[in-house]
Amino acid sequence: MEGKKLKWPLVGNEHITEYLEQCIAHNNIGGSYIFYGPPDLGKSTAAVYFAQTLLCQNYDKEGTELPCRTCPSCRYFSGKKNAEENAVSTGETHGDCHIIRKEDDKKNISVELVREFIRILGLSSFLGEHKVGIIRDAECLSLEASNALLKTLEEPKRKVVIILVTSYLDALPQTIVSRSQILRFHPVKTDIIYDYLISAHKASRGEAKKFSRLSLGRPALAVKFLEDEEWRERYRKRVEVFLKFFRQDINERFAAVEDLIGKKAAGMEAAGTVASILSAWQGVIRDFMLIQLGFNNLTRNEDRSGEYIALRSIVTRDKIINLNRVIGRGEEYLRANVNPKLVLEDIAVSI
Ligand SMILES: [Zn+2]
Repeated sequence: MEGKKLKWPLVGNEHITEYLEQCIAHNNIGGSYIFYGPPDLGKSTAAVYFAQTLLCQNYDKEGTELPCRTCPSCRYFSGKKNAEENAVSTGETHGDCHIIRKEDDKKNISVELVREFIRILGLSSFLGEHKVGIIRDAECLSLEASNALLKTLEEPKRKVVIILVTSYLDALPQTIVSRSQILRFHPVKTDIIYDYLISAHKASRGEAKKFSRLSLGRPALAVKFLEDEEWRERYRKRVEVFLKFFRQDINERFAAVEDLIGKKAAGMEAAGTVASILSAWQGVIRDFMLIQLGFNNLTRNEDRSGEYIALRSIVTRDKIINLNRVIGRGEEYLRANVNPKLVLEDIAVSI
């Protein structure tokens, strides 16, 4: 197809840009999209780039790369480093692009927030072109908020595009899902992340190898490992606590849990921390499985190989299967608002 080419900084997941490029080429933009897939794959970044593309003032010009990055609208976006990160819950990044997400201290995205979102999208466009609304953490929409949104999706307005971003498609009402185009993001191959860390983030080969494996297919996570020393240290400690569990009695394990998240850990922030701990522990369990199967060279935490082998007689196949189940159950508990500390203690007693 002649004409418009999307140039987005997405690592992997080319099928997403190819598909949207076709939609744009055929002037067939939907009223609502769901960007869905595991965390840290660049879904929100892609949503913001889609918005920037639709709002680019060179959108109709043939033969341009979109977004053009030079028109006033594009400059507005690029003026903000990480537009999607800077947009607070009710923040506007652009007159014609409105982004909402769950606020850290709130349980869900309220109906008031969604009503305001719908109202803004209903106003006429500043540029006379598209209006784009992005809802991050869309799985957190309250029931009332979902219903309000559904009404808007049932009567789509011309040139209004709503993008829902989520890691949990099942948590969205079927009525919303069925009215939207679903674009599924997949984990990215380790060697693509490896190249990306070297070319875009100046990682050494050793760093690129280590962090591409640690990221389990998530480019944004790989970058976090590379650039954020504090995050690396926190991760290291989480893995270490879990590995020590296998040689500790129950009291020692409970003390380690408390040391990890603090005495009075509760609320949404603690739930986020615990979700992240569970994901680190799940990675260790996955490594034990790989070692059992003889794939020692595929483990996530390659620097732990010695400990894995030393624990082989204690961490049996049955234990691995059971812990995998218990950690999965912990993730469900968290989403059902069970006290985060109890979730970790549940795992500690199941060792
Ligand atoms: Zn532009």
